[in-house]
Amino acid sequence: MTKMRALVLEKQHELKLRDIDLPTEVGPGQVKIKLHTVGVCGSDVHYYTHGRIGPFVVNAPMVLGHEAAGTIVEVGAGVTSLKVGDRVCMEPGVPDPNSKASRLGMYNIDPAVTFWATPPIHGVLTPYVVHPANYTFKLPDNVSFAEGAMVEPFAVGMQAATKAKITPGDTAIVMGAGPIGTMVALAALAGGCARVIITDLAQPKLDIAAKYQGIIPVNIKDKKLIDEVNRLTDRWGADVVFECSGSPRAWQGIVDVVRPGGTIVVVGLPVEPVNFDIASLSVKEITIASVFRYAHQYDRAIALMASGRVDLKPLISETFTFEDSIKAFDRAVEGRPTDVKLQILMEDA
Ligand SMILES: [Zn+2]
Repeated sequence: MTKMRALVLEKQHELKLRDIDLPTEVGPGQVKIKLHTVGVCGSDVHYYTHGRIGPFVVNAPMVLGHEAAGTIVEVGAGVTSLKVGDRVCMEPGVPDPNSKASRLGMYNIDPAVTFWATPPIHGVLTPYVVHPANYTFKLPDNVSFAEGAMVEPFAVGMQAATKAKITPGDTAIVMGAGPIGTMVALAALAGGCARVIITDLAQPKLDIAAKYQGIIPVNIKDKKLIDEVNRLTDRWGADVVFECSGSPRAWQGIVDVVRPGGTIVVVGLPVEPVNFDIASLSVKEITIASVFRYAHQYDRAIALMASGRVDLKPLISETFTFEDSIKAFDRAVEGRPTDVKLQILMEDA
C-alpha cells in the first residue's frame, strides 16, 4: 500500500481530495497505469448524491471513477501483451476467471466480479492504478486518451446492441437521450441499424444526439412516439426498442411501438417495480433482453472508434483538472441538459 492523492467519497454528499492508502504492488499478470483521463459517470454521481445504488452502499471512504485511460508504467511477470509506454484503457470489472459465469463467457454477471468505484472497491480518480493486463486494452494511435475514457460507457451501448441481435437495415427506438441512450443509439447504428429514433423530454439532449447521421429525434413533450413510429415504419413498428430512460412511464405502451417478433432491450433501471402488460407482449411474440455492464466489448468498441465509424468526441462536454474534480462532480449533479460527458484530466495535476 502507498499513500496516494485521490478523489475520495467519504460518505453521502461528502467528497475530499486527499491522501489514501492504495495498492501499488504489481503482481504477476498485472500492469501499473499512470492515469490520464477519467470520465465522470452517472453511477459515481449517484453514490455522491445518494450514498448507494440498490444493494451497493458506501459504508467506508471510497475512491470514485471507473471510466479511464492512461499509460503503462510497469508490467508484472508474465505480461507479454503490453509494454511500458503503451496507451491503454481499462475495463473496470474484474471477475473470478474460474467462476461458472466466467467459464460460460458471461464474466460480467459473475457474482464475484469486483468493479471500480462500486463499494467496497476503490475507483481510479488517483494518479496510478494496478490492474490485470487481461482487462487492459491498447489504444490505437488515432484514438485519444479522452476517447479511450469513453470506451467504458460506449461498451454498455455495444452490449445492448449485441443483445438486440440487430439485422442490417433495422429500425430502432432508443428511449432516453442521456449519455447511455446516446451511446446505445450510436452502437445500434454501428451494428447495422439504418435509423434510430431517439426520444426525450429535454430538447438540448435530442439536439446533441441528432447531430449524428441516422438519428431521428422525437421530443415526446410535443409528439406522440407511436404516431412517429407508425409514420416512419408504415405502421409495422420498430425492430428493436432500447429502453434507456429508466422511467416507469416508458413501459406504458412500449409494446405498441415494437413490430411483431421484435425485441425490447432493457438498459435503464426504474427504481420501483413497473406494471407491465405481459399479454400484449405475448400476442406479438416480443423478446425482452437485459444488459448488465458488458462482456467482450472493449476490443470491438476500440476497433469501431479507430475505424472512424464511431466518433464520441462531440459527446465530451467539458474537461476539468484533477484539482478541480469536486467541481466536476458538482457540475454533474446540476444535470445540465447540454452536458453529456464530463471528464477529469489526471496528468500534470
Ligand atoms: Zn460508467
